Amino acid sequence: MSFLRTWPPRALDLILPPRCPVTQEEITAQHMLGPWAWSATHFIEEPFCGRCGIPFAAEYGEGVECPSCIAEPPDFDRARAAVVYDDASHQLIVRFKHSDRTELAAMFARWIARAGTGLITRSSVLAPIPLHSRRLLARRYNQSALLAQGTAKHSGAKLSLGEFVRRRATPPQKELSREARKRNVAGAFGFRSEVARARFKGAHVILIDDVLTTGATLSAAARTLKRAGAAQVDALVLARVVKGGVGAI
Ligand SMILES: [Zn+2]
Repeated sequence: MSFLRTWPPRALDLILPPRCPVTQEEITAQHMLGPWAWSATHFIEEPFCGRCGIPFAAEYGEGVECPSCIAEPPDFDRARAAVVYDDASHQLIVRFKHSDRTELAAMFARWIARAGTGLITRSSVLAPIPLHSRRLLARRYNQSALLAQGTAKHSGAKLSLGEFVRRRATPPQKELSREARKRNVAGAFGFRSEVARARFKGAHVILIDDVLTTGATLSAAARTLKRAGAAQVDALVLARVVKGGVGAI
């Protein structure tokens, strides 16, 4: 009898209430965070390094670069990140990358497009950091491609999918030192064809990735694109490592 009393369910019950991807509490709108996760997420705001976008603790003036960019300039022109890579954003990114929570891409793309204000134009070409085909097969989707698709939608910029490719499978960068990371990704990138390579000639390319750690992957990708004649190569990432937390420099 109890089955009959509860069947059919009310139409509204069929629609899952939106939940915070971190705390799982019910929230009012899809593609948002609950209050705890929202307050724990550190969005990166100016002032930051004019080159790599690492947040500064104080205002040093327009376009000032951080000590590591001055000592060893990266091969990309400018990089900007939406949030600091910390416990809160790590939880979100792990769900996005490894738990098939691809719907998070919509929220992340909004954040990335916002971080790219002043950097993205309608003629920019957004190119995700590619996965090697073997890893793509194992993971079933390239998280950076999802971010690039969403960011293109938000900004009206052009999108390049499958033209800039990873020629060589590289071990994950996670456990490697700064120098080893550089060696690991050297020569890892290329183009699907000569036609694909030609598309980047004279272009303003914006690489899209999920996390910036040392910048070695983005630098290697930027080098390959510049060799193909790209006029400028910037990078937009969801999160970046900031040793010592926000405004450490
Ligand atoms: Zn810098």
